Amino acid sequence: MTAVRPSPFPASTVLGYPRIGPERELKHALESYWSGRIAYDELEKVGARLREDTWRRLHALGLGALPSGTFSYYDQVLDTAVLFDAVPERYRAPAPEDAYFAMARGAAGIAPLRMTKWFDTNYHYIVPEIGPDTAFRLAGDAPLAEVRQARALGLDPRPVLLGPVTFLLLSEPAPDAPAGFAPLDRLPDLLPAYERLLAALAAEGVAWVQLDEPALVADRSAEELAAVRTAYRRLGAAAARPALFVATYFGDAGEALPVLAGTPVEAIGLDLVRGSLPAPDVDLSGKTVVAGVVSGRDVWRTDHDRALAALVALRERAAQVVVGTSSSLLHVPYDVERETGLDPALRERLAFAEQKVAEVVELASLLASAPDGAPRRADSRATSSPLSPEPAAPCPPRSPYAVRAAAQAKHLRLPALPVTTIGSFPQTGELRAARAALAAGCLDETAYEALVRNEVARAVAVQERLGLDVLVHGEPERNDMVQYFAEHLDGFAVTRHGWVQSYGSRCTRPPILHDDVRRPEPITVRWATYARSLTDRPVKGMLTGPVTIVAWSFVRDDLPLRNVVSQVADAVRDEVRDLEAAGLSIIQVDEPALRELLPLRRAEQDGYLAWAVDAYRRATSGASDRTQIHTHLCYSDADEIIAAVDALDADVTSVESARSHARLLREPAVGGFERGLGPGVYDIHSPRVPEVEEIEESLRAALKVLPAHRLWVNPDCGLKTRTYEEVEAALANVVTAARNMRGDHECRPLTVV
Ligand code: GLN
Ligand code: ZN
Repeated sequence: MTAVRPSPFPASTVLGYPRIGPERELKHALESYWSGRIAYDELEKVGARLREDTWRRLHALGLGALPSGTFSYYDQVLDTAVLFDAVPERYRAPAPEDAYFAMARGAAGIAPLRMTKWFDTNYHYIVPEIGPDTAFRLAGDAPLAEVRQARALGLDPRPVLLGPVTFLLLSEPAPDAPAGFAPLDRLPDLLPAYERLLAALAAEGVAWVQLDEPALVADRSAEELAAVRTAYRRLGAAAARPALFVATYFGDAGEALPVLAGTPVEAIGLDLVRGSLPAPDVDLSGKTVVAGVVSGRDVWRTDHDRALAALVALRERAAQVVVGTSSSLLHVPYDVERETGLDPALRERLAFAEQKVAEVVELASLLASAPDGAPRRADSRATSSPLSPEPAAPCPPRSPYAVRAAAQAKHLRLPALPVTTIGSFPQTGELRAARAALAAGCLDETAYEALVRNEVARAVAVQERLGLDVLVHGEPERNDMVQYFAEHLDGFAVTRHGWVQSYGSRCTRPPILHDDVRRPEPITVRWATYARSLTDRPVKGMLTGPVTIVAWSFVRDDLPLRNVVSQVADAVRDEVRDLEAAGLSIIQVDEPALRELLPLRRAEQDGYLAWAVDAYRRATSGASDRTQIHTHLCYSDADEIIAAVDALDADVTSVESARSHARLLREPAVGGFERGLGPGVYDIHSPRVPEVEEIEESLRAALKVLPAHRLWVNPDCGLKTRTYEEVEAALANVVTAARNMRGDHECRPLTVV
């Protein structure tokens, strides 16, 4: 092992930076490339420019150490899989970019790899598939190429890689792997590939490399902790390597920290926003600590006093303290200065990526000028006056399900296996263009409304013609299922440019929940009532649930999250009541993000689920017995929280199922599910139109575990990204399949005795 002291880590850094581009340049370039409008080298030019712009900007802001390798054409986990050649055979293609995008998005006849959310964020990564035979090797030079690119600008970046333990823990076993196989078993075979990469970086003269190990902030078994020890002892013992900086983030590294501290890695990154200062007995004396005191997950300015106190405390225990972000800044928008439409008093309180970099730099200089441990400047962050949360008024629960089911059956008179959709119908280009024109002031409200009216009428007409049993208005007035509600509730602000990557080229603009939430007037009643006036069939009102509204927003941090969610629940509750009063007999309150906020540590999960379920029940318990409450959850992962889904006490729950090969139906708890359940019968993420037989097949599979009177028939998720042509063909087949199956189950009416 080389006894060379590493060059000191510069005083300030960030763990990563947004990469979609301030104008979503990457999104536009990717989509042009996918649709064949530009060639791959054009896309690469856009990527190269975005990387350069980021490095130059970070440098101009005075940041000490710049990261590289935080750019990606799709996803950093996928990049890691490709870098180490963990490419399943079926995706291999002559051009590496074809294999890459096939894994991400599928190719002719080949489904993509699974995608799931990155820890508890709203970013989604591609799940690598690792089997006993995956032949790891260093298969590319992207990390080196980026270093060279930055050096050509006179900058010297620190390559960022996904660490081997997190990479394997996030992977799933290849389909043909024997039972009991875990990707982590392959650690000894993967490490040589990392060693080769480290050697190559060292040969290039790279001083530091960052290895991201966010998996260390979740509960880890003794075996997994042993893997951490093995991995970093081994990488640390390499003959030629840069200094190693292992970044933990998204929470407290807990019991993994002493393990990591006991390996030869030179630097450790700690999330001091969500996590706390290390326990006194953790020996950090020989280490550089990159102290994540500026949040990478929220949009609030940093409390300088608090941050400095943590930095000063750490300085007594570590060889060096570097000021950093708590995680990559991937999860926040670029620049708050562009949000000229925001209330200046609110803008004052905000920091997006650029502002956070400036904070890191400023904190580093404050720390340097506070040698005695007494920070020179006490700049308390501007916050709204702290509120003592009013205890939420208790809401009486709904009647027992059997009572409600009987009332609903009598009132609704639905056939067995009722067919419905999840809510949205295709959002046409015309509609999106009109919304943009409205926002830009080039289209008046009346013209826009007329267009929305037409779209509602069209969606209703299609559903009537195809013979669906429970209709929806199609949500044409909604840009997004959370933003739409945020725009109509007090306490939220929406941004113009605040895009954050969700997956691949997809971005969302999370609203900012900054104050007490109130509903000044009904939000959805008008369009729901209009849809109802167009048909005799039941129309389902469509709302977004309180947990999802909060999960997909940036949330004030001066109140406990559960109190914020409870305020939103009250607003939703008022809306449920108004829809009911307007004559809607079925109301769906979507909670696709219920699983998303689940804490990473098991000890905190039950507590979270209890208050999340409580908020949902609060939002829906104002409905009378005969009003049927539906809910919808995306992701097959619903199986993990099926007990909580059950506890939501919705009369009907629809969940994604088709894409995950009905994994949900294999869950023992599903058979015991007492209320209506609609496991999606086809995958809406693909333009493919499902055949009648295929749908019948999935209904048959569902009927093996669920009685017919509990089964609903619906697609996996909303239809807004599809075209009318695809949707009409698919729904026609769904209706046919349901009718065919109904014949077999005629004797069972939709009642519960
Ligand atoms: N009702 C919403 C829709 O259909 C639900 C979307 C979602 O589950 N993400 O679009
Ligand atoms: Zn969904």
